[in-house]
Amino acid sequence: MLNISGIKEGVVLDHIQAGKSMEIYKYLGLGKMDCTVAIIKNARSSKMGRKDIIKIEGPLDSLDLDVLGYIDHTITVNIIRDERIVEKRCLSLPDRLVNVIHCKNPRCITSVEQELPHIFYLADKEKEVYRCQYCDEKHS
Ligand SMILES: [Zn+2]
Repeated sequence: MLNISGIKEGVVLDHIQAGKSMEIYKYLGLGKMDCTVAIIKNARSSKMGRKDIIKIEGPLDSLDLDVLGYIDHTITVNIIRDERIVEKRCLSLPDRLVNVIHCKNPRCITSVEQELPHIFYLADKEKEVYRCQYCDEKHS
């Protein structure tokens, strides 16, 4: 059972690959958000051996779950209200990524036109391949 004590309203990210929690913290911009964050590293897990957990207390409106799906879609998102888990959300690879990854092709229009959003689409779901919407460059 996942221990959520101390959280009235928020979200607990469970089953994060051990060692990945800081990366997720950065991607989600949690440092800039006005919420309480607890990171648990190397927790014991019967499923995974070791895992990381992130507990976030506060309003979730600005939390971008699409980004999370891109980083690691095996993470379980537990939504917490009134100190209880009210919803478990499974993530999937997003079809589109906007301003998450950047195109590295020097001839791509996004390298010239700095104002353009960096848009990638999911080209191959099985191999988890994303391509730039403008020049089709593969992101690795
Ligand atoms: Zn491109």
